[in-house]
Amino acid sequence: MGTENIHIIPTSEWLKPDAKPLIIAGPCSAESESQIMQIAESFANSGKVRLMRAGIWKPRTRPNTFEGMGAEALPWLRKAQEQFGVKWMVEVANEEHVRLALDAGIEIVWIGARTTVNPFSVQEIANALEGEDIPVFIKNPLNPDLELWIGAFERFSKAGLNKLVAVHRGFNTYQDHIFRNSPNWEIPIELKTKLPQLEIVVDPSHIAGKRNLLHQVSQKALDLAFDGLMIEVHPNPDEALSDPKQQIVLSNFDSFLNELEFRKTHFVDAVSIDKLERLRSLIDEIDYNLLENLKRRLDIVDEIGQYKADSGVTVFQLERWIQIIQDRMKYGQEQGMEESLIKEMWTLIHNASIKRQTEIVNRNLNERDIFDA
Ligand code: PEP
Ligand code: MN
Repeated sequence: MGTENIHIIPTSEWLKPDAKPLIIAGPCSAESESQIMQIAESFANSGKVRLMRAGIWKPRTRPNTFEGMGAEALPWLRKAQEQFGVKWMVEVANEEHVRLALDAGIEIVWIGARTTVNPFSVQEIANALEGEDIPVFIKNPLNPDLELWIGAFERFSKAGLNKLVAVHRGFNTYQDHIFRNSPNWEIPIELKTKLPQLEIVVDPSHIAGKRNLLHQVSQKALDLAFDGLMIEVHPNPDEALSDPKQQIVLSNFDSFLNELEFRKTHFVDAVSIDKLERLRSLIDEIDYNLLENLKRRLDIVDEIGQYKADSGVTVFQLERWIQIIQDRMKYGQEQGMEESLIKEMWTLIHNASIKRQTEIVNRNLNERDIFDA
């Protein structure tokens, strides 16, 4: 399906002065007036943050958790906006949110990942915004479905909203992952290929899920020449009412930005990045998946080790090893992989597994000795 119906007005035409890359920062959730004022003042002083974000209505996985301050927080944003000359953007997920945000003087909104998955909600918001001249940032849907993401751009564009920007926040995975959401860089790059005029901001906070990975993900986004970053920042993240692990401490944010290496020519878009670089980022992604799967395998090996220790079964079982190696080699050969590669890899993995299980069994024996004594 084509994308010719999507008309995009670039940020340089509506965000003055133009700032590249576009830095958006703010708390996951607005929690109190003093928190909002403190953040706004700090950003106004540093001059490095172009737009501020704050969640007012929070889509939480489970009920009876903090679901945002709601409309009560809107006057705080307005006050900070007036006092410090900064612009706040908020997430809207339905028609009522749109109405309340517009009434409160919010000039930019974003669509959350849990909303982009649902065309009914996207359409409802597009209808509610029709006739407004307001920029809309659209996060990718939770699931890695590029068509669904593009569909959201189409719906807003059709409603006459053309100041559109994409936010890449990673994709849900079923398995545990180093990252909270898998970056799948190839998907936003493909979006850029299909809609070259569309700017894409990366949200490292929701990709990483942990503070210590934020630098790595942000640098990757800059190296791949995405157009900006949307980062969660909080004066005291450990006390935050949502996403405490991934928010950067406000007082560290300046040095966080200073430690990032910004490309000299920011405005090379992701499409023109060297093919080699793109393929390398795919290799990185696959290697992370390999590592994570290896970790899962080792965890299960440990569990079996414990089971063997508890039931007094030997660690090494020849018939199981023969079955593993024969099966993996056959499968690998069917995929056109060299026999020697599979044999070497699984010998290493199996030896490491036996070593771990032997350690578990020995530890158990020692514990029993201590107990008996
Ligand atoms: C958020 O930005 O705080 C948020 C809820 O993000 P997402 O929609 O990407 O999960
Ligand atoms: Mn968040």
